[in-house]
Amino acid sequence: MRKPIIGGNWKMNRGTPQEAKDMLERLVPLVKDIDTVDIVIAAPFTVLVTLYDTLSNTNIKIGAQNMYFEEKGAFTGEISPIFLKDIGVEYVILGHSERRDIFKESDALINKKIKKALAMDLKPIVCIGEHLEEREANKTTEIIKYQINETFKDLDKDEMSNIIIAYEPIWAIGTGKTATPEQAEEIHVFIRKLLDQKFDRETADSIRIQYGGSINAKNAEDLFNKENIDGGLVGGASLQSDSLFQIIKAADKSIK
Ligand code: PEP
Repeated sequence: MRKPIIGGNWKMNRGTPQEAKDMLERLVPLVKDIDTVDIVIAAPFTVLVTLYDTLSNTNIKIGAQNMYFEEKGAFTGEISPIFLKDIGVEYVILGHSERRDIFKESDALINKKIKKALAMDLKPIVCIGEHLEEREANKTTEIIKYQINETFKDLDKDEMSNIIIAYEPIWAIGTGKTATPEQAEEIHVFIRKLLDQKFDRETADSIRIQYGGSINAKNAEDLFNKENIDGGLVGGASLQSDSLFQIIKAADKSIK
């Protein structure tokens, strides 16, 4: 049985301590009794310390939205996994499509970051997904296969067990256009098949695969009711405590 995981990806939207604190102080009491779902907030670096202060002794874990694969040195503007660990970060989003598209991160770079995160005992939430043109050209499975092979290159089964995959069709991110539960499930099943081929059935069955792309309080339940969708990575709807709470409740309900 895979425990669903809901990740709130605040992107560059909640970056001052006061707004982070305000949102979390509303969220914490709402979700305090939910132990069936892992809850993560991935916030900008500027408020990770605020999350550390606000979320200690709660059931909400702290996530970062990126990191570098070196620990120290002349890497202006980058963030070391050591710094993240020191302030209680447990999860790190890697390979988000915005990092891939806007900042030209390659699968090879993402692979290095994943290896470093795992070595530092951080849990990577690794995003994969196709562009609209690729879906329209029937290339979705080809793209997914390539991304799985390249981003998870040279990882073993034990390492894979600490990874969360987020399937995020890029055409659904921030657009209000969600993949239908059937479209998402089809790709999740395909990802599990690839993981089975690359590793083994047990590994494929145990890895959590989130869906991401315009999840909201209304569509979450139908998505999470699909057998192979283990929660979601949520952008826009994670900015308000109420909508995020509804999504977390939908994940909770999906396992009852
Ligand atoms: C995301 O940022 O990963 C995401 C899925 O965003 P949104 O929910 O806003 O589409």
